Amino acid sequence: MNHAKKAEIFIANTERTDWHDQALWFIRSKRDIAINKVAEWEQLRDIASQIKAHVLGNLDNYLLEFEKNALANGVHIHWAEDGEAHNKIVHGILKKHKITKVVKSKSMLTEECHLNPYLESNGIEVMDTDLGERIIQMRNEPPSHIVLPAIHIKKEEVGELFHEQLNTEKGNADPDYLTNAARLHLREKFLVCEGAITGVNFAVAETGEVVVCTNEGNADMGTHIAPIQIHCMGLEKIIPKREHLGVFTRVLARSATGQAITVYTSHHKKPKPTGEMHIVIVDNGRSEKLAQKDFYSSLKCIRCGACMNTCPIYRRSGGHSYQFTIPGPIGSILAPNTDLKKHSDLPFASTLCGSCEDVCPVKIDIAHQLYKWRQVIGKEGHLGKMKEKSMKITASILKNEKKFKFYTKMMRFSLRKLPKSMFNISPNKWAKNRAMPPAAKESFREWVKKSGG
Ligand code: SF4
Repeated sequence: MNHAKKAEIFIANTERTDWHDQALWFIRSKRDIAINKVAEWEQLRDIASQIKAHVLGNLDNYLLEFEKNALANGVHIHWAEDGEAHNKIVHGILKKHKITKVVKSKSMLTEECHLNPYLESNGIEVMDTDLGERIIQMRNEPPSHIVLPAIHIKKEEVGELFHEQLNTEKGNADPDYLTNAARLHLREKFLVCEGAITGVNFAVAETGEVVVCTNEGNADMGTHIAPIQIHCMGLEKIIPKREHLGVFTRVLARSATGQAITVYTSHHKKPKPTGEMHIVIVDNGRSEKLAQKDFYSSLKCIRCGACMNTCPIYRRSGGHSYQFTIPGPIGSILAPNTDLKKHSDLPFASTLCGSCEDVCPVKIDIAHQLYKWRQVIGKEGHLGKMKEKSMKITASILKNEKKFKFYTKMMRFSLRKLPKSMFNISPNKWAKNRAMPPAAKESFREWVKKSGG
C-alpha cells in the first residue's frame, strides 16, 4: 500500500485527522514563539548548518578522533556496517554479561535497525522507557513521529490501554493519573534492569563523550542503575568540540518542542567504576548517502521533528502512512536511498511548499531534495505507468503553444458544457475529494487582451 492509500485510511477518521493536525500545529506555533525570543536565531541556524557541513566533509578524521578519545576514557567502541551488524553487536554485549532484561530510551537508530524484535527473538526483554515509546510498544506499533512517537493516539485510548495492561481504573484518561501509573510501572523495570540502551544526540570528537537529550530523564535513570550501558549512534552524530554543543542544544529544543532547553542534557564520558560503557557506531547506508552530491546534506539532520510539525501533508496523513522509520519531509528524502522502488511514492507526498526548509534548524534543502528525488525516480522508471504517460502528454502540450491553446480551450469548453459526473472518474484523482472548479469562459491571455493589457 502506498502513502496515498495509507493516508486515505488515516483521513477517513476526520476527528482524528483534525486534532492530529491541530496538535502538531500547536507545537509548530510554540516553536515560532520560542525562536522569536532569540535575536540571533538565523545566525544560530547558519552556524549549526556550517558545523554539520564541515563535519560531513571531514567525517573520517572526526570519527577516528572520537574513537581515540573514547577508548582513552575506557569506553568500548564498536563499528557496525548495517542494522544487522548493529543488532548482533548489542546482542553480543548483553549475552556476554548474561543480561536478559534491558531498558531502552528513545532511539530512532534502534528503530531503524529493528533492534527490539531482534533482541526479543533472542530471549531478551526490552522495555522502552520514554512514555510515548512505551505506549506504542504496548500497542505493538512503530512510532509515528520522531519526537512525539504516540502523537496519533488520544488520551482516552491510552486510558483504555493502561486499564487493559496496567490495571488502571476503567474510563480514567486523566493525563496526570496515567503518567503516574506509567511511572510506577517503569520504575519496577528500572530497578531490576541489568543493561541500558540509549540513542545519541551528539558525539563530541574532542572528548570522546556522547550527549543524550530527554525530557523525562529515563535515559539517565537507566544508565545510572544498570552496570552495562550501550549507546547506539549513526556515524553522522559527530560534532567537533564541546563548545559547539551550545549551538545545537539551543536549536534542537526550540525546534523540537518550543522549549528553551531540553529538561535533561546528559554527558556520558566513561563507564561507572563497576560497569562497562559501549558505543556502537552505525553506518547502515550513511556512507553511500555521503557520496551523493544532491542528497548528502540530509545527513545534517538532528532529528528535531520540526519539518514534520509544519508539513501540511504529514499533519493530515499521520506518520504511519510513510511506512518508513523516519516519516515526514526528512523521511521522504532519506527513504529513497534505502530502497528507491519501495519508497518511490514518498518524494511525491509533498506540496513542495518549502515550509520544512524554513523551519529546519540545520538548513537542509528538503523541498529541493524532494524535487530532485522525483527526477531520479522518473529517470529510473518508478513513476508508474499512468503517471509516466500523463506526464509525457502534459510535457508535450506545455512545450507547444498551439497544442496548449487548443487543449486548454477544449478543457474549458468540456468543463462548462459536459456533465460533472464525466470528470469524477477514477483516473482523475484530483476530483476524488474535491469539487472541480468552475471553468473560466476565456483564457488568461484572452482576458488580458480584452482588458487592454
Ligand atoms: S530535517 Fe531539519 S527540521 Fe527535519 S527533523 Fe531533521 S533537523 Fe529537524
